[in-house]
Amino acid sequence: MNLILLGAPGAGKGTLAAFLIEKMGVPSVSTGNILREAIANNTELGQKAKQFMDAGQLVPDQLVIDLLRDRIAQDDCKNGFILDGFPRTIPQAEALDTIANIDVALSLEVPDEVIEGRMTGRRVCLKCGATYHIKANPPKVEGVCDKCGDKLHIRKDDHPDVVQHRLATYHEQTEPLKDYYGKQGKVKSIDGTQGIQQTERFAVQALGL
Ligand code: ADP
Ligand code: ADP
Ligand code: ZN
Repeated sequence: MNLILLGAPGAGKGTLAAFLIEKMGVPSVSTGNILREAIANNTELGQKAKQFMDAGQLVPDQLVIDLLRDRIAQDDCKNGFILDGFPRTIPQAEALDTIANIDVALSLEVPDEVIEGRMTGRRVCLKCGATYHIKANPPKVEGVCDKCGDKLHIRKDDHPDVVQHRLATYHEQTEPLKDYYGKQGKVKSIDGTQGIQQTERFAVQALGL
């Protein structure tokens, strides 16, 4: 199955993706994680993306479309993939339609009021991409990744001022994708406010896993 996870920043896409990887046996592709890794390694891609990401703006379409195309052409995506954070604009969705067949767009519904707490409590591992929350999903040892032992970071763009901007960008540029995939009959929506395990159960039901 080729699956897209739709939802506001902080809705829980990455967290759900980590669960679905195991359940579905396919990899997830997070454009945000790929870009953050590129920044950490100071690659050419990272240098191009950094200013946009720090400001909570979207990286230009062509840059992410090219990186996504290369990523899902790799062998491990042959039997399906989960896209987390792509597409984020109509032009990205149109480009994706020329690259792959999407089966389902699973939309995680979380109102703006809930998002800020998700972001301020978020801690991420830049090495392996794992995501934690100081209350909802704390690591075993504070500040240390359970999976790989690396140090956890607070994302620069999770600062409350930047979060407001990211939410506005989301409503303006990304939310229209629900309509885009709705017209193709591919949207399944689930409540994303109910805690991590309940969200996983809703997803399993919606996807018939
Ligand atoms: P979140 O998990 O909070 O939704 P992501 O990790 O997906 O955030 O993305 C972080 C940032 O990376 C975005 O604010 C944007 O600058 C950039 N980015 C990630 N994916 C895309 C994309 N598909 N198109 C444009 N920019 C992107
Ligand atoms: P996204 O990838 O959509 O930006 P994340 O998966 O990174 O979202 O989740 C944002 C934050 O909220 C993280 O700190 C994560 O641990 C936490 N979180 C994710 N899903 C839930 C949930 N259902 N209930 C409470 N907290 C959650
Ligand atoms: Zn890690």
